Amino acid sequence: MSECPVCGAEITLASDTVVGELLECPDCGSELEVTALEPPALAEAPETEEDWGE
Ligand SMILES: [Zn+2]
Repeated sequence: MSECPVCGAEITLASDTVVGELLECPDCGSELEVTALEPPALAEAPETEEDWGE
């Protein structure tokens, strides 16, 4: 069990979750990155920058 750093919702990580995996908070929809497994820790994923081109 971990916690969404954005809204505080409890998030259960799948048993096959790996560090660096991205998931979406079911409560607030934020994109989260798994930063550690023992104990589980989540961080808000950096926004993926669009390739705007030149
Ligand atoms: Zn959330």
